Amino acid sequence: MQRVLILMSDTGGGHRASAQALAAGFAERYGDRFDVQMVDLWTNYTPWPINQVPKSYRALVTDYLWLWKAAWRTGEQTVVTEPGMRLVGRLVRRAIRRAFDEYQPDVVISVHPLMQHVPLRLLRHKLHSSIPFVTVVTDLVSVASVWYHPEVDRCFVASEEAVRRAKRVGLRDSQISLVGLPIRPAFAKPVATKESLRLSLGLDSDRMTALLVGGGEGMGPVGEIARAVAARLAADGRNAQLVVICGRNATLHREMSAHPWPLSVRVEGFVQNMPEWMAASDCVVTKAGPGTIAESLVCGLPILLTGFIPGQEEGNVPFVTENGVGAYCEDPAEIGAILSRWFGPQQARLAEMGVKAKSMGRPQATFEIVEEIAGLLDK
Ligand code: UDP
Repeated sequence: MQRVLILMSDTGGGHRASAQALAAGFAERYGDRFDVQMVDLWTNYTPWPINQVPKSYRALVTDYLWLWKAAWRTGEQTVVTEPGMRLVGRLVRRAIRRAFDEYQPDVVISVHPLMQHVPLRLLRHKLHSSIPFVTVVTDLVSVASVWYHPEVDRCFVASEEAVRRAKRVGLRDSQISLVGLPIRPAFAKPVATKESLRLSLGLDSDRMTALLVGGGEGMGPVGEIARAVAARLAADGRNAQLVVICGRNATLHREMSAHPWPLSVRVEGFVQNMPEWMAASDCVVTKAGPGTIAESLVCGLPILLTGFIPGQEEGNVPFVTENGVGAYCEDPAEIGAILSRWFGPQQARLAEMGVKAKSMGRPQATFEIVEEIAGLLDK
């Protein structure tokens, strides 16, 4: 059995979801040939205060956006990040070495922007290890420079723009693979008809269905948007229903569950069966999270974007609107109006966007990634 160590961290839901997708991909393709372990290196192995970085992420991108924007801009200056990473490396090197000693990996996969420089430098220059180290970038378009390290064996990306950025910071063609985001294999499986799936999820089978979600953390004004959308669809008499997925946001879950809805609304917390909820829906209303966008494309769902995290999600907005697979709007009332049109006079347009979305989806990306990684081990 060969040991795969995936370095991730719970900043947002996307990194864990990507790590889980890869683990599932290895299991489906290779059975028990690989022993895949995931570790949050930052939280579980580094000393205080560095181990608090993942926890601070949510507060940063919700309450201290100005600070996040400044941090993002600073992170793009290699004159700052290089010495910064070296300093952090000195502080956490021993702790990270402990993780490598414990896991004894045959290959290391990083699915997090902060897990290239320090672990890779430690492996190559201190431990003199030549085990393959690959990066699977879980952002779509606006990929931060820290994701890229010129010493990786392979860097998997999901867009032409991500390839350009990789080259700009010194990666060679032979190191870059453009394959798509690793999404859970369940998204690539054929599903039952939309109607039967709706019934099995306890939804009405004949209503147009919008799925509202705010990433793994239930971020952004999901509640406000849900209320405005429900009010507008009910006022316009649409034969529609909403599914509001609150993720790990318990407050949102409580509020949404207690709201007196004017039409049929299903409220869920963090769901494990996102492929089913998406396959049962006609469109997705979401912040510009890369994971949710990639999954929606595979499911052939038009995407109504309602916001983005400055920096890493910025490029996802034109990616959706310019490719004709959705729209962007921040105003809850207007979001309601757009959905009412999509579920009313613009149903043909909705169907067209769905076809385009499906054509852009990369359902096999996860398998392509694990196969390439397995190939590195066969060399
Ligand atoms: N997700 C999930 N269950 C939920 C909410 C979200 O499995 O209840 C998954 C979603 O399918 C996607 C990820 O969490 O894979 C969210 O990633 P995205 O990049 O969209 O946003 P992030 O949470 O990283 O900001």
